[in-house]
Amino acid sequence: ILDMSLRFIEEDGNDYQVLGIAYDLTRVRQLEKIQKDFVSNVSHELKTPVTSLLGFTETLLDGAKDDPETLTQFLEIMQKDALRLQQLIQEILQLSRDGRTISYDDQDVTVHPFITEILRSYRKVITEKNLSIEILGDETITYTTKYELFYPIVKNLIENAIQYSQSNGTITIDFGFAETFYFVVKDSGIGISLKDQERIFERFYRVDKARSRHSGGTGLGLSIVHNYSELLGGTVTIDSHLGLGSTFIVKLPKN
Ligand code: ADP
Repeated sequence: ILDMSLRFIEEDGNDYQVLGIAYDLTRVRQLEKIQKDFVSNVSHELKTPVTSLLGFTETLLDGAKDDPETLTQFLEIMQKDALRLQQLIQEILQLSRDGRTISYDDQDVTVHPFITEILRSYRKVITEKNLSIEILGDETITYTTKYELFYPIVKNLIENAIQYSQSNGTITIDFGFAETFYFVVKDSGIGISLKDQERIFERFYRVDKARSRHSGGTGLGLSIVHNYSELLGGTVTIDSHLGLGSTFIVKLPKN
């Protein structure tokens, strides 16, 4: 908003003052566009699995269900579609959470076992890819934070590191107290180009749409990480090199 005031004296000797206020609407327009894009992206993302589900149910009801092999194959695809819908809905709800409307209580999180527990749910893929994962942070460190916001940050960064690592990759997870509380996930995976790094925290942004969708990603994980880090009063930054790997650094207030 620009506030102007102009004062001048006319030839008639009178003293005049002109006041003007100019509003810069660029930011408002940008926000409106982000909002519109989000709604259209959400609709598109939700439509895809629903269309697939309807197609498969129709084919089954038309007679395909009588062949046991086709039945199993179609049910498996339908289950994937339903799981994708579930994940999308969960993440969209997570994104629509607003720090001002929901106030969470602080909880003590013993970070090391908390990370081990998250890693446990990825056991299968960790073994399949033969990933070595090292947790550097001290086992006794406790961080007091809003668990509901902290958990998705940690989970999404670990999940991405695992997802975008190639076979035999290395992942290092570090945390602790310095100027702030820090939580760092470093992988030796596919990496992200500088151009993509600029957009990586946008909702639904994926570097490789086709591959990402195939691997089950929604493109919402990092925007949740970004939003929640800010809601907790912190930041998330990235350091990545294509083909070499990525490091995500979250800094949160010490409390
Ligand atoms: P997704 O659900 O697709 O993983 P995210 O918002 O978590 O969505 O990430 C957005 C995109 O950023 C991903 O599709 C992927 O292309 C890229 N990305 C995220 N984390 C990493 C990583 N650790 N290494 C390489 N690329 C990554």
